[in-house]
Amino acid sequence: MKFNREHVFDYAVAENVGPGLVRVTARNPSAMTFHGTGTYVLGADHGAILDPGPRMDEHFNALTTLLSGGNPSHILVTHRHQDHAGLASTLSQAIGVPVAACGGGDVVVDEGLGSETPARDYHPDIGLFDGDVIEGRDFRLEVVYTPGHTSDHVCFVDPDHRRVFCGDHIMAWSTSVIVPPDGHVGHYLDSLERLLAYPDHVFWPTHGPPIREPVRWIGELIEHRHWRERQLLDELSAGPATADKLLQRIYGDIDPRLARAARASLMAGIAWAMDRNLVERDDDHEPPAYRLS
Ligand SMILES: [Zn+2]
Repeated sequence: MKFNREHVFDYAVAENVGPGLVRVTARNPSAMTFHGTGTYVLGADHGAILDPGPRMDEHFNALTTLLSGGNPSHILVTHRHQDHAGLASTLSQAIGVPVAACGGGDVVVDEGLGSETPARDYHPDIGLFDGDVIEGRDFRLEVVYTPGHTSDHVCFVDPDHRRVFCGDHIMAWSTSVIVPPDGHVGHYLDSLERLLAYPDHVFWPTHGPPIREPVRWIGELIEHRHWRERQLLDELSAGPATADKLLQRIYGDIDPRLARAARASLMAGIAWAMDRNLVERDDDHEPPAYRLS
């Protein structure tokens, strides 16, 4: 079946969002995934599937139906979270193409949060490294290693169409969730700066709309983390405080669905400040408190 613009599956929406670019949105909306995971299918002949998405029958059916009218050669994955990589192995077996994803990364522990947890049975066939070029008959992508959200996060740059596929590293509607120790604010900020090298590209995140002014948005994301750190240091300038106290003072009344994400962000911020010897842990305090170094 050839895909056309009007085709809307019963269970997922596929849209042509640019030349040689289709987005199939999974029906897994949540506080973490926005409208749902957007799987991108690249190339005039559907050569590459980027982030196959969550392990959902209806999303699998939408993709295999679409791909039956094409000639796919690669499944690409930005990072191991289940809402991106969950379907990778099943789809790979079904359509007979390999999975390519980060070949390195120093995974510490990735417990994640909700859908932001590692996919099971996920074993990429091809390891990608920074600067690699991966190409098929109808697409060509450069790999940029962007740790921070997770240690195995990569972005894919399409220089021919001036596009960056930025996974969960950059989202248009929210900041990225960083869950330490695998997630790391310092690495995340370094990775954001690397993407400033593509000021005239459109950034396509997995969740939410495209970003057409990436430099301005990246600047805001960087500033947001520095603002959070200033809040942390201000609170601690009044004296040691536990994580619970800091959470309450900095984040106030938060949507209960985002409480764990807020706590993870706080702990990621503390870890980053500790890395730079701005903050230290006071283990004599029970429960442990944090103070300025
Ligand atoms: Zn993720």
